[in-house]
Amino acid sequence: MLPKEMIRRVFCIGRNYRLHARELNNALPEKPVVFLKPKESVFFEGTDIIHPGCGRDLQHESEWVVRIGKEGVFKQGESAGDWIDSMTLGLDLTLRDLQEVLKKKGLPWEKAKAFDRSAPLGDFVPFNPELSLNGITFTCHVNDRLRQTGNTGTMIFPIETCLAEISRYWRLLPGDIVFTGTPEGVGSLSPGDRITIASASIGVFTWNIV
Ligand code: ZN
Repeated sequence: MLPKEMIRRVFCIGRNYRLHARELNNALPEKPVVFLKPKESVFFEGTDIIHPGCGRDLQHESEWVVRIGKEGVFKQGESAGDWIDSMTLGLDLTLRDLQEVLKKKGLPWEKAKAFDRSAPLGDFVPFNPELSLNGITFTCHVNDRLRQTGNTGTMIFPIETCLAEISRYWRLLPGDIVFTGTPEGVGSLSPGDRITIASASIGVFTWNIV
């Protein structure tokens, strides 16, 4: 397991799958939507997901997550494989009721997206250069029922475009991680539920919600 100290900043891409943008009635973005979570929001398997008291509708967003291995500015045209040293799956946990209120008022999303324990992560696996970054599939099951299926090839903005957009504002640093957006099928989590995210090329990760 990658120690938490090896994670630097937690970048997240929003609205990166067409059908997910549509299910939340969001327009398709013209550029990657970027937000951050504090790295203290990260935790791994073995620690439960807590349904927080600060919102009612806790929802899962299963996402492919990459870790940056070097410092610098990523430019369009470069290969993301030269920058990514490892990858995993994660959940961009979201308090959807609160996010809807904030969105309507045009306010920042942090209270809905960046609260404590909002970023459960699987174990990172070393980047495999043989793997196509545009062909990684993953699933999300809640209580053994399939809720989400994703394929990185259907992202609106491929990983290269996401890294180039982030690099326009933040110089990339080793340990930065990027949540790359969620496919359709996001849904609510309640205490007592069990969530599993899985990918053949990465692993299987499970949490209980308490
Ligand atoms: Zn997300």
